[in-house]
Amino acid sequence: MSDSYGWIDEALSAIHRANWYRSPKLIAGRAGAVVQLDGRSVINFASNDYLGLAGDERLIQSAIAATQEYGTGSTGSRLITGHRQLHQDLERAIAQFKQTEDAIVFSSGYLANLGAIAALVGKRDLILSDQYNHSSLRNGAILSGATLRDYAHCNVENVREILQQQRDRHRRCLILTDSIFSMDGDLCPLPQLLDLADEFDSMLLVDEAHATGVLGASGSGSVEHFGCTGRPIIQMGTLSKALGSLGGYVAGSASLIDFLRNRAASWIYTTGLSPGDTAAALTAIRIITEDRDSQSDRSTNRRETLWQNVNWLKQNLTDHFSTLLPSESPILCLQVDRPTTALQISSDLLQQGLFVPAIRPPTVPTSRLRITVMATHQSTQLEHLAASLHRIFLSP
Ligand SMILES: *Cc1c(COP(=O)(O)O)cnc(C)c1O
Repeated sequence: MSDSYGWIDEALSAIHRANWYRSPKLIAGRAGAVVQLDGRSVINFASNDYLGLAGDERLIQSAIAATQEYGTGSTGSRLITGHRQLHQDLERAIAQFKQTEDAIVFSSGYLANLGAIAALVGKRDLILSDQYNHSSLRNGAILSGATLRDYAHCNVENVREILQQQRDRHRRCLILTDSIFSMDGDLCPLPQLLDLADEFDSMLLVDEAHATGVLGASGSGSVEHFGCTGRPIIQMGTLSKALGSLGGYVAGSASLIDFLRNRAASWIYTTGLSPGDTAAALTAIRIITEDRDSQSDRSTNRRETLWQNVNWLKQNLTDHFSTLLPSESPILCLQVDRPTTALQISSDLLQQGLFVPAIRPPTVPTSRLRITVMATHQSTQLEHLAASLHRIFLSP
């Protein structure tokens, strides 16, 4: 019998042998700082729900109300039957939040990157991409057909070298970078990259997936954090991390967004975001904006509380661990030597009721424990994590 599919089992065995095998974990109950994992209550240091909005009653109620008004699905692509007042309101709210002329909402952040990059550049063009960029940026670059050059992580000199050597041989040029790097937690050198884009007649797309709702005086992201608002940047991000919903967006000039509505295949040929997800994201942006406007009441400002939690844990880990990777975000990583060590520590932590994932190659070059801090973590929960890490890492 012919076995054209036999290679799949062989490939799976190879994945197992390399300790790269992964499978989804079953989480029960409502999203939050404590979740049910395999029937046990654990403190959640694994999610991207930085502000704890995914389980917020206000987001839930707005999703229910929108579902009752419009139904569960948006029933078609945005250009045919999938466009509602809610989508328009959300795009306006994102543009206002980001202080750009306009914004376009995609059905996920991944689709936003695929669609935007493939629309902006093609065969005659050049892409420069940070070596640690998210999978959606890399795959968008490949899909575009442009010449793709990776540069060393956050290395501005390397970007300059490649531009000096290659910019002239191409029509358009696009520089791609995460702002907060998703698996490390460090921050890109945005102002320097913008200067280079300017000098070498290039576009710059910054992926604010982990920075939206987290960085900047009003929580709009790294562009605001670096004081680069108003400079020519293509800002993309997701509604699925700090905003607690689902979907992605690109924000920028009116003509950029208009162009994407006519050329981004992953927007034109996919179903519009569901009414429930759209309404939840809109409510999240309103909550973050209200937090900014009521700065006198610090106890209810989620971003303020998030950063208090981050700073406390980061200080504690900095004092005791030399393997803490550089971070300027709620993503704190402790590097370990081997994938098996990472798995062992993660499982020891789980025994203590702490959910901290081991991130291993091929996702990252070196194995690590990746801790994500939330605004809704209690200080006792952070203390519990720190004490357990000390015991596991530092006991002889
Ligand atoms: C999560 C993530 C995305 C994809 O966003 P989704 O909305 O989850 O598809 C894109 N870029 C980065 C850096 C991310 O971390």
